[in-house]
Amino acid sequence: MKKNDIIELDITGMTHEGLGVGRKNGMAVFVEGAVSGEKVYARIIKVQKNYAVAEVHEWLDKSQHRQEPFCLVYESCGGCSLQHMSYQMQLEFKYGVVKDALEHIGGFKDITVNPAIGMDNPMHYRNKAQYPVGIGNDSKPVSGFYAKQSHQIIDFESCAIQDEISVKIRNHIIESVREAGIPAYDETTGKGILRQIITRTASTGIMVVLVVTTEKVPGLKALIQNISARFPEVKSIVLNINNRKGSVITGEKNLTVYGQDTITDRLGKYVFHISPLSFYQVNPVQTEILYGKVMEYAALKGNETVFDLYCGIGTISVFLAGKAKRVIGVESVKEAVEMAERNKLVNNISNVEFYHGKAENIAAELYKKGIKADVVVVDPPRKGCDGKLLETIAGMRPTRIVYVSCNPSTLARDLKYLGENGYRIEQVQPVDMFPWTSHVECVVLMTRK
Ligand code: SAH
Repeated sequence: MKKNDIIELDITGMTHEGLGVGRKNGMAVFVEGAVSGEKVYARIIKVQKNYAVAEVHEWLDKSQHRQEPFCLVYESCGGCSLQHMSYQMQLEFKYGVVKDALEHIGGFKDITVNPAIGMDNPMHYRNKAQYPVGIGNDSKPVSGFYAKQSHQIIDFESCAIQDEISVKIRNHIIESVREAGIPAYDETTGKGILRQIITRTASTGIMVVLVVTTEKVPGLKALIQNISARFPEVKSIVLNINNRKGSVITGEKNLTVYGQDTITDRLGKYVFHISPLSFYQVNPVQTEILYGKVMEYAALKGNETVFDLYCGIGTISVFLAGKAKRVIGVESVKEAVEMAERNKLVNNISNVEFYHGKAENIAAELYKKGIKADVVVVDPPRKGCDGKLLETIAGMRPTRIVYVSCNPSTLARDLKYLGENGYRIEQVQPVDMFPWTSHVECVVLMTRK
């Protein structure tokens, strides 16, 4: 097999990223745009030692579960990757990703995975958008999303997954910035000012964060006036200063230049204050479902001590607090812990303590002091839990562990350890937080054997 060869291929599976997989002479061939059950002529793009990458040259047999992508820039934009699948097929794909990871990485055979919980209306669900700003062909600022695997900016008129008003605000800001002559940041030279436009939408209004290289933005007053007059929903405008080279999106310093320092969102019967940079779930409709599952799996009776590790701004902690004796939240980002403290106050909760630090360190310290959890909730970032934390949890012997994960591979790795150290899987529930993308969220209940 070599580059540009055209081969006939049965697509028998899919990668976790959503590429079709076929086999030729015992070698796996990954085909972008093809889905399980299809037969294609594939053109080879790249041949590696153990696999090849291809694109569809022609379909011989199309899946009835495919659909026309509804977005005009779907092929080029790096945002979505599953628009060619029906929503039902996506849910089945995500179920399969979880099942496959648990079987092959976790070593759990015949494990029952519940069907993924999808959205009734999987459109415009995101409450947070990050639009990179770059230099257009006319040398003026443009914004959009990065193309697949590159920093080329793909502009668009509308976006199927962002809140509709977010795109309107972005369009308006870019227009104003072009008129005012505020220069876009140039990644290659490090010159220019505006790097990113971020919007966060919440129940009480919208926050706009402009990531810039300097506090001295020419024409800033007019720009603020322009945004706030056109969009009264915008309750906060923040400058985030980032003058470092490289692809890290935000810097450490935030300056509120209009309105409030935070915005407030309502989830269930609680309210949460959100600061410009702290983590907050991006799909509010599915977050309620996800947290509902966490509560169901935690099955609290009122006398438990619960650890909420990787607690962000304390959302899950607040939900748990209403049903537990004592909740301990741990989070490594200081600004998020400050928000968590505030969220405890505004929700009138007194039985939660928050600790700033790494979950693996704080949990070990608490355990050493004799503080043990009856129920542990973890919600780590993509890389999963630290090995030392898993050891501490297993040593503490909580009756239940609720694991919220945004990465099935590290989830499976961590469950394997817990499975070998006293726990069994009771429930595995994928919840679709990210329709049209290959991201998979899942919540798992383990109990002590
Ligand atoms: N449970 C929260 C946040 C989940 S995101 C929610 O539902 O909103 C994961 C969080 O873990 C982030 O806030 C991140 O800052 C934090 N984090 C990352 N590594 C950590 C570590 N080693 N210890 C504690 N928190 C960590």
